[in-house]
Amino acid sequence: MDEIFTGNFTQQEPIPEAAIEAAVAVLRTGRLHRYNTVPGEAGEAALLEEEFAAAIGSKYCLAVASGGYALGCALRAVGVKPGDRVLTNGFTLAPVPGAIASLGAVPVFVEVTEDLVIDLDDLAAKADQARVLMLSHMRGHICDMDRLMEIARAHDLMVIEDCAHTMGASWAGMPSGRHGAIGCYSTQTYKHMNSGEGGLIVSDDPDLMARMILLSGSYMLYPRHRAAPPAAHFEALKYDTPNVSGRMDNLRAAVLRPQIPTLPERVARWNALYRVMEAGLAGVAGLRLVPRPQAEAYVGSSFQFLLPGHGPERIAALVARLAARGVELKWFGPAEPAGFTSRYDSWKYAPVQSLPRTDRVVAALLDLRLPLTFSEADVAQIARIIAQEVPR
Ligand SMILES: *Cc1c(COP(=O)(O)O)cnc(C)c1O
Repeated sequence: MDEIFTGNFTQQEPIPEAAIEAAVAVLRTGRLHRYNTVPGEAGEAALLEEEFAAAIGSKYCLAVASGGYALGCALRAVGVKPGDRVLTNGFTLAPVPGAIASLGAVPVFVEVTEDLVIDLDDLAAKADQARVLMLSHMRGHICDMDRLMEIARAHDLMVIEDCAHTMGASWAGMPSGRHGAIGCYSTQTYKHMNSGEGGLIVSDDPDLMARMILLSGSYMLYPRHRAAPPAAHFEALKYDTPNVSGRMDNLRAAVLRPQIPTLPERVARWNALYRVMEAGLAGVAGLRLVPRPQAEAYVGSSFQFLLPGHGPERIAALVARLAARGVELKWFGPAEPAGFTSRYDSWKYAPVQSLPRTDRVVAALLDLRLPLTFSEADVAQIARIIAQEVPR
């Protein structure tokens, strides 16, 4: 009898008790709106921003309604206008090109490599087509950030980092989100902190941050922010910056604050699961693991591997056999997008573009989540099942 995995790939851990208590305390006050505070009270949203900025080492932080909102807000803040071209990864998640399209701007896709990072040669070749790069650390894979920033400087490219999968990760000791001008994170349930929906934006640039705080819907209440630049930076912008409301509320902020200090511990557990999967799949014929560079401190909250040369029929059959054994793999290759979509050619609002390398990679790419509700024994069992089924 073949063993069957019975765990749930989308079941997260419960919200910590301290966060539940903090949330109930906010509910008892009725003051859920971030600017609804009493004298002497900072409010949960302002405190969250201060604490996240300290944890990540940035000067400023803004909490917003979602990761996708954070990306759109960052693009507005750097002055992207309708019709402007914005470079981004050819392999990413739908909210990334969606944020670009939400401004009437045009996504220009850059190839992805077999190691699942942006193709820096292709980036250098396309760098003169735009003044902004929205860099997506898709699935937590971080490219050579030193070389990327060199290319950006040489071509005067402003870099916005999409860190939806890299909260807690770093490159050469520098946290993901701190390399570019702006870093954007998601606190949606499937990411590294969980408030259902939510986003965080960090930057060291006072004018960009003032503009983002005004954009997010701060009215003239911006002096209540703590992880924010001095008032003078707002004075120059406050009459000309539209309100595109996307604030975070005190309830979500209360749920998130107690999760910040536990992030390193959760990262360690994710990475322990990741290493069990990696060890379990090493040496499976025809299966290519994704190498992790020395300079990259990653968060292994999901796992990817490639089956180059398998072809769509074989991969579809494998995915079905694994599903029958309780192992839910996401295959990014099928022609018709389903579930969470990552095929650039399914985003038909963007101009038709040809990315042969990305096509090859995505066609062979399989992905699975490693929620912290899995034990190392669970992951070892999943790896055993995959290792049995791939060669069949
Ligand atoms: C989840 C995600 C986002 C945006 O997150 P939301 O909070 O769902 O809007 C952005 N980029 C990537 C790669 C993501 O996976």
